[in-house]
Amino acid sequence: MAATCDESIAAVDPAGAAARRRRPRDRRRPPAPSPPPPPTPQRISSEELEEALRHHILDREQMFQMGYPLDADPHSNKAVMYVSKRPRRPQPLYTWDVNAPEFVPGGSQSDSGRGSWGSTPRSDSDEEADTVKHECVRCEKPFRMTRDGEYLVEESCTYHWGRFTDGRYTCCPTVVGSRGCTVARNHVWSGTKAGMHGPLDGYVRARSPRGGVYAIDAEMCYTTAGMELASIAVVAADGRTVYKTLVKPNSPVVDHNTRFSGIRPRDLARATKTLRDVQNDILGFVGTDTILIGHALENDLRVLKLIHFAVVDTCAMYPHPRGLPMRRALRTLCEDVLGRSVQCGGGGHSPVEDARAALDLALVKVHQERAQRMRLTHHHHHHVLHLQPYDPLVSAA
Ligand SMILES: [Zn+2]
Ligand SMILES: [Zn+2]
Repeated sequence: MAATCDESIAAVDPAGAAARRRRPRDRRRPPAPSPPPPPTPQRISSEELEEALRHHILDREQMFQMGYPLDADPHSNKAVMYVSKRPRRPQPLYTWDVNAPEFVPGGSQSDSGRGSWGSTPRSDSDEEADTVKHECVRCEKPFRMTRDGEYLVEESCTYHWGRFTDGRYTCCPTVVGSRGCTVARNHVWSGTKAGMHGPLDGYVRARSPRGGVYAIDAEMCYTTAGMELASIAVVAADGRTVYKTLVKPNSPVVDHNTRFSGIRPRDLARATKTLRDVQNDILGFVGTDTILIGHALENDLRVLKLIHFAVVDTCAMYPHPRGLPMRRALRTLCEDVLGRSVQCGGGGHSPVEDARAALDLALVKVHQERAQRMRLTHHHHHHVLHLQPYDPLVSAA
């Protein structure tokens, strides 16, 4: 499906350079044998693809609403962004004792390693002035950290890892309001609070046009500073992986978020690239006009600290029937639109798989629109899309 414009993309695509820059030790998996080329039901030139995708590029207003980092001033490297309030999840009907026998580590599906579980709750008056209050993104409990990123109280996090949808959690058959089904060693925070942020430092942006279309997906882990970039994959419009690396977070990791990120502690331990390295690599092939495709791409651009305007977001391409802030999950979109499952392996998400999923969703939309136009002019024309999980990572999942 995705191999629809390989010959023309190759001329503008620095895949070779990106591949040479990649260090073998940064690869999560050994290089897989090249998959057989997928069927190409309908070819489209890269110019045609770029033109078709341009109609889906978000405008600034949409980007602002969706929480993308925007430039504080034209051409500025400082970012501003609006973070909307997270939708509340139903809370447990009672508070529980973290020292109760059922909280003994080992008997639970813990996301992270063992730790010290005895906690000594403090009253508010004990809190030092030099602490920051955060809200846990998993269980929504408030917790405090020092400005150096130390937990004031060591307390485990009990939560439902699934989405809350249609009155139930997707992780377990429990009744709403019951205690979480998963226990992790620490509470974690997102790194951003609801509201306006900025001007923020550390952001980069392209300075000159380079053309091209890429799909991008980043995986994050939780550090003492919130969500940080831990892994990234960039896929060209023909489905080739042009960039893939693990990233060493700047702050100490609290939770590898393995269930979602697919990143295991031993993976990240051998990561050598920093965010700054990755930003430099990305700007080696992403220009001001380069179209970046992703699903809820604002999260990726936030952790990448990349200000970019030519973005196509499959969340906006396939909106939720109830509109924003509701979004359709990548997983359900893939099942509905592509007829394939992603993110169902035990190893968590693969950024290559997720980037290809976003790419294929965008390509299907483009093909559907072309087919629609052709049907309007030639009634007898009927286009059938053949999609298959050609990626060995997908087939293995
Ligand atoms: Zn659950
Ligand atoms: Zn928590």
